[in-house]
Amino acid sequence: MPTHTFQNYIDGQWVASRGGRVFENRNPADRDDLIGIFQQSTPEDAEDALAAARRAYATWRLVPAPKRAEVLFRAAQIIAERKEMFARDMTREMGKVLEETRGDVQEAIDMTYFMAGEGRRQYGQTVPSELRDKFAMSVRQPLGVCSVITPWNFPMAIPSWKIAPALVCGNTVVFKPASLTPLSAINFCNVLVEAGLPKGVVNLVTGGPDVGTTLSTHQDVSVVSFTGSSAVGRIVNQNAAPDFTRVHLEMGGKNVIMVMDDAQLDLAVEGCVWGGFGTTGQRCTATSRLVLHEKIYDTFMNMLVARTKKLRLGDGLSEDTDVGPVINEPQRKAIHQYVEIGVGEGADLVLGGKIATGDGLKNGWFYQPTIFGGVRPEMRIAKEEIFGPVLAVIKVKSLQEGVAVLNDTIYGLSSAIYTRDINKAFEAIRDIKAGITYVNAPTIGAEAHMPFGGVKQTGNGHREGGWTVYDFFTEWKTVYVDYSGRIQKAQIDTYHQ
Ligand code: NAD
Repeated sequence: MPTHTFQNYIDGQWVASRGGRVFENRNPADRDDLIGIFQQSTPEDAEDALAAARRAYATWRLVPAPKRAEVLFRAAQIIAERKEMFARDMTREMGKVLEETRGDVQEAIDMTYFMAGEGRRQYGQTVPSELRDKFAMSVRQPLGVCSVITPWNFPMAIPSWKIAPALVCGNTVVFKPASLTPLSAINFCNVLVEAGLPKGVVNLVTGGPDVGTTLSTHQDVSVVSFTGSSAVGRIVNQNAAPDFTRVHLEMGGKNVIMVMDDAQLDLAVEGCVWGGFGTTGQRCTATSRLVLHEKIYDTFMNMLVARTKKLRLGDGLSEDTDVGPVINEPQRKAIHQYVEIGVGEGADLVLGGKIATGDGLKNGWFYQPTIFGGVRPEMRIAKEEIFGPVLAVIKVKSLQEGVAVLNDTIYGLSSAIYTRDINKAFEAIRDIKAGITYVNAPTIGAEAHMPFGGVKQTGNGHREGGWTVYDFFTEWKTVYVDYSGRIQKAQIDTYHQ
C-alpha cells in the first residue's frame, strides 16, 4: 500500500507546508512499519494558522456557549464510535498497549463530553452592590487565539484536555502536536472538523521547535498551553514572557509510591507494577521512585521482582502484551545511560537494566523493566526524570522520613501512599508537596473532571481538567450596572434608609 502523506489543517483546508519538507512517522515496536509522512512545517505555516485563528475568533467568540458545546458533544460521539480504530492507530505510532491507548481515547471522549456539558455552565457571580440601584456581577470571557503544544505520551487525551475547554470558552486554537505522534492529532482534528467547527476555529500544524517558537512568541497569541518536558517548558515560558502572554505549563515529574509497614502488600505490588511499568514508564505521572518502610523492604522487593518478571514485552497491538516499546532510539539510549549512572552510583541493579531482545522485539525500541534497590535519595536516578521503565527503590525508617525523601526533588506532580492507617494517610496528604496524592492506589489514573497538574518545577500554578481549567482559558470581566439615573460614588456615597 502506498504511504499516505498527511497535511496541515489551516483555515478549513488540508494544505502542504509552504516549505515543502516532510518527515516520517514509524512504529516504535517495528521500525520497518512506516505509518505515514507528515509536514515538517515552517514558522510561516504557523503564522498562516495563527492568522486564520485570529479571523475565526471574531465570530466564534460570539457563538453562544451552549451552541459551541453542541459541536463538542457531536465530536465526543464520533470519537466514541471510532474508539477502537483510534486506539490501534495510537498503539502503532506510540507503542503503548491497546488497553492503554483505549484508555487514552476514552479520556478524550470523557473530556469532550464534560466540556460539552460545561457549555451550559461557565458560571460567574452576582453579588450585592454597595450602592442602591446598582447591579454587580462577574462573567467569564474568552481570551482569543490559543497555542496548544503537546507531547507524544498521551497523543489524544492531552490535546483534548486543552482544545475542548479552549473551544467551549470561545477561544480559537492552533495545535502543534509532538512529531512522534502526529496521526492521533490528525484523527482528533478530523473529528472536530466533522462535528461542525467553522473554518479557522481549529488549525493543526505539525513540525518541530521552530513552529513551537512561533506559537509562543507571536503577538496574535493570547494563551499558550504547553505540556512536555521542564527543559522545553522553560524555553516556552521565556519566549512568551516579553509580551506577558499567558502560559500554562505541565511538565516533568519524579513521582513516588510510599509503602508503609501496615500496607496491604499484594495490592501495593500491583500498584507499583502498574504505576512503574504501565506505558513503559513513560507517563508524566509514572512511578519512578518507590519508598519502602524498612520492616517490609525485603519481603516487598521479593514480591515486586517476582511480579515484574512475569510482564510480557511485545507489540502493543497484541492482546498478550503487558509492556510495549519505548518511544524511540534516543529515549532508549537515555534510559540505558541512566541505568549505567545508577550502577556507577552504587545502586543495586536487581532486575533488568538491558535492551530487551527475543522473539518479536529486535525491530523495536524495547527495554527491560528495571528495578534498582538500595537507592539513596541523593543519587541522580532518585532525582532526575528518566521517563522509562526504571524504578528506584529507597528504604526508610518512618513515614516522616519517607515524606522528606518524596519531597526532595525539583518536581511535584503525583504521589501515592499505601497504608491501612487512616492517620498516616492524612498526615501524608497534608505534608506531601505534589499536585496529586493517591491513597492505596498508584500515582497514575487522572479523571477528567478533577483538577490535574503539579507544583514546583512540574507546573506554573494552573490546573487542567475539572472546574479549574476555566481559570486558564477565560478572563474575568467585572460588570457594574448603575440604574439609578444619577452619579453614585462607591466608597463615598452611603445609602441611608
Ligand atoms: P518535549 O518537551 O520534548 O516536547 C513537548 C512539545 O514541545 C512537542 O510538541 C515539541 O515538538 C515541542 N517543542 C520542542 N521544542 C520547542 C520549543 N523550543 N518551543 C515550543 N515547543 C517546542 O516533551 P516530550 O518528549 O514530547 O514529552 C515528554 C515530557 O513531557 C516528559 O518530561 C513528561 O514528564 C512530560 N509530560 C508532562 C505531563 C504533565 O501533565 N505534567 C504530561 C505528559 C508529559
